[in-house]
This record gives sequence, C-alpha cells and structure tokens, in this order.
Amino acid sequence: PVRVRFAPSPTGPLHIGGVRTALYNYLLARKTGGTFILRLEDTDQNRFVPGAEAYILEALQWCGIMPDEGLSVGGPYAPYRQSERKDMYRQYAEQLVDAGHAYYAFDTPEELEAMRERLREAKVDNPQYNAISRMQMKNSLTLSAEEVKAKQEAGEPYVVRLKIPRKEEVRLYDMIRGWVLVHSSTMDDKVLLKADGMPTYHLANVVDDYLMKITHVIRGEEWLPSAPLHVLLYRYLGWEDVMPQFAHLPLLLKPDGNGKLSKRDAEKHGFPIFPLAWTDPNTDEQAAGFREEGYLPEALINFLALLGWNPGTEQELFTMEELVEVFSLERINKAGTRFDIEKAKWFNQHYLRQRSVPELAAWLRDDLAARQLSVADEVVQKVVEMVQERITFPQEMWQESYYVFEAPTQYDDKVVASRWTATAVQVLEAFAEALSDRTTLSPDETKALLNEVLEKHGVKMGKVMQALRLAVTGVGGGLDLMQLISLLGGAETARRIQHAVA
Ligand code: GLU
Repeated sequence: PVRVRFAPSPTGPLHIGGVRTALYNYLLARKTGGTFILRLEDTDQNRFVPGAEAYILEALQWCGIMPDEGLSVGGPYAPYRQSERKDMYRQYAEQLVDAGHAYYAFDTPEELEAMRERLREAKVDNPQYNAISRMQMKNSLTLSAEEVKAKQEAGEPYVVRLKIPRKEEVRLYDMIRGWVLVHSSTMDDKVLLKADGMPTYHLANVVDDYLMKITHVIRGEEWLPSAPLHVLLYRYLGWEDVMPQFAHLPLLLKPDGNGKLSKRDAEKHGFPIFPLAWTDPNTDEQAAGFREEGYLPEALINFLALLGWNPGTEQELFTMEELVEVFSLERINKAGTRFDIEKAKWFNQHYLRQRSVPELAAWLRDDLAARQLSVADEVVQKVVEMVQERITFPQEMWQESYYVFEAPTQYDDKVVASRWTATAVQVLEAFAEALSDRTTLSPDETKALLNEVLEKHGVKMGKVMQALRLAVTGVGGGLDLMQLISLLGGAETARRIQHAVA
C-alpha cells in the first residue's frame, strides 16, 4: 500500500511550492487508496519559528489537504514531531559507526573553518570534509580508540559524520527524471548526529521514512542533491530493499520564466506566495496570503495541480475529486513551470461563479457589517446575483455595488462635463417626479416609465442614460441601471436624482 508523507520544517510559513508538494502527495494517496502522513521535521532548533507549526496545519486544512496520519491526527508511528523522536535516531548513527560507515568527529568550529581556509588557499573551490581532508582532522578515523574514548569520557562535544566513499558512482532512480548519477567525490561527509544529540535532517528523514514505511518520497527539486546521500544511508543501514521511490518535483519559476520563484518576485508583482497571510514573529514583517487576498481554496488547488503536472488533455478545470481520479506521477513535468498569477485569477473567477448566492451573500454581509451598514437580506442577495458574474474576488462585490448601499455625494467630473446637459437635467427631474410615488417597480416597468418620460420630452434614451446613471451612482459605469433602480425603489431613486440636480 502506498504510504507518502509531507514533511515540512517549521521554519516559517509554508511556501506555495510546499503546498503543491503536499497536494501531489495527497493526490497519490487518495488515488491509490494509500495513506498520507504529515510529519514535522523540527530538528534544526536554530531555525525554529514559533507559530509555523500552527500555520502549516491551518494552511493544509484551508486547502483541504488533510493528513490521514501524523501530526494532529496521530497514528501507529507516533510521535510525528521529530524533536519528540530524538532518542530514536542515535542508535542508527551508532549502528553506522559500528559498521564502519560513519565516525565520530571532535573538530571545533574554529578547526573546521581553518580547514576550509587551507583548502581555499590550495585553490579548492568547494572545500569539503571528505575522504581527503578528513585525514587531517580530529575524528575516530585519525585518532586511536583510546583517544576517542578519553575524549568522549571527558565530555568533549562531537558529531557523527557519514563516511562517504572516495570513489564511487552513486545511482538513483527518480520517477520524474530517470536515472541520476552522482560521483561520491562531489559529496561531503555530512553530519548525521549533532553535538546536542539531535539528528540532522538527513538522518532523521531517512530513519523516519524507513520506520514509517514510506513507499514514495515526493518532494521539491531542491532536495535532489540530498538524494544520493540518502541512498547511501539506506544502503549502509541495510534498508536498500525497502528504499522508497523518489519523485522530485519541478521548480516553480518566476513569472518571466527566468529562474526560481522567490518571495521577492511575488512582492514585486503584487501576488501572494503563501497560502495564508503571515506575520513574522521576529521582525513583525507581514506577508500576503492567498486566502486573505480573496482566493478560494478550490481555485488555488486547481492552479497548483497544473503547476507541474498535466492531465494529457485540454481539460483545465478540476475539482479535488476529479484530480484524484486523473492524477498520476507519470504526468508530472520534468521542466520547471512558470508561475502565472493571471491563471490563478482565472480559476478564482470560475470557482466564484460556482459558489451559491447565500455563500457569497454571507461574504458581502461581512463587508457591510464592517462598514456598519445594515441591509435587508433580500437586497444583499439581489446584489450578489447582479455582481456574481462580474467579479474575480469576493471583496469586489462591495467595490462593484457600494452605491447600492450608500447614495452618492460626489459625481465623476468627466461624466458631468460630457453628459450633464440641460436637456438631461430636465428629463431627470421629470423622471424623478414620475418615480417618487412608485414604491416597487420591476426593471421592465422602470424602463417603460423612463421611455414614457423621454417620449413626452421628445428626447432619445442615449441623451440621458449616462446622466441618469451618474445621478443614481455617482459614476459612469457599473451594474445594469434598470435593475439597480428597481432594487433601490422609486422613492430612493427620486431622492438621488433630486440631490444630483439640486
Ligand atoms: N523537511 C524537509 C522540508 O522542509 C523535507 C524534505 C523531504 O521531503 O525530504 O522540505
């Protein structure tokens, strides 16, 4: 059975790329009847950010990407927070040391820096702790067994490092990229266990994927360089036969397609890069979120699904259920995908039209309440019906309809200059007169009444429409005018016209 995991580190808000990773894992689990696990990789205490864990949970919940097992739901391999599993990792590090695949290293930060400096002076571009440089350092490969023991007993801090072989081709099969070959001379002796006893990402990640019986590791391309190291860990720990399959997802690219998408790009182009708004607890810096900008989760999901995967058909609109039906790892793209926010807006507009009128009405009612406006439910509903097809974001309902709720006090100068003629004013006054005792009238009745007045004055509709709109709304464009007047009622419309002509 498929067991996949999303394994974020609580180092800040979830990036949109992380949401995509979670989504693809989730889709594979749902599609195959497997299990989607949420695991928190929080062993790097220097990078821990308070609030990030809660943020991750809330963001996944908002997106509808709920784990079957793991953080917040529990399961047979609990705990799912790596910091709470600290004691499990040491034995595997020791196992590697005993098998000769890892060693203790006692070097101080100063000694490590001096080593790098020496290598830089010798024109090594990428100074590493490796098969060559380790021979000059203080570790259990260069020290005698007694010296090592003495240091450990004296409580000297040490780390456990993986002993990367000097000359070996490491091969791994990636389901998206095919075979990846890396020569071990380019890899360094990564720390597995830190001086404080905490595992590093690499050790904890591999051990937990093994213990939690993960079958597929689906993650961002930025982790591809770590994968050969993970392959060696599986091999040296004797787990190669149950090693998960790897699938590294393509990068998300800048809107112009040049390079990796960054938070700075998002800010520059004015779109969010996080699912929910986020305030950095250390700097108080604020970052926008898709939710707060008015994106619907189903729009974001549809957008993200196609950002790195394709159905092989022309179809673009997919609900989560439809995605589950058609998703497959085989159709994930190899090349990076350009981040096109216009596409996200297009999806949003589509899904906003699918929402029910009462749902949107609740949204608009919140905006009205925030402005201390109390409006009858039927009016709010009517307005929603009038604006639903015109909007891309829920907050635009107010922007499209504010003049329904607030009579204009100012009038667009440009329209005044071009359309506010003596003839128009005359007709408007007469129309106001005719309207004032009509409490209710349909859009058709409104139109008939206006025509009557126009005929009496021998004036064409085109000569007064804009002026009428201006008098009723204050601006030159917007909602259907006859529907609007019908909604406002005769008396209110008459009042507005009288105010405008006064
Ligand atoms: N903790 C890693 C992250 O923050 C997980 C990478 C992986 O999935 O192996 O993305």
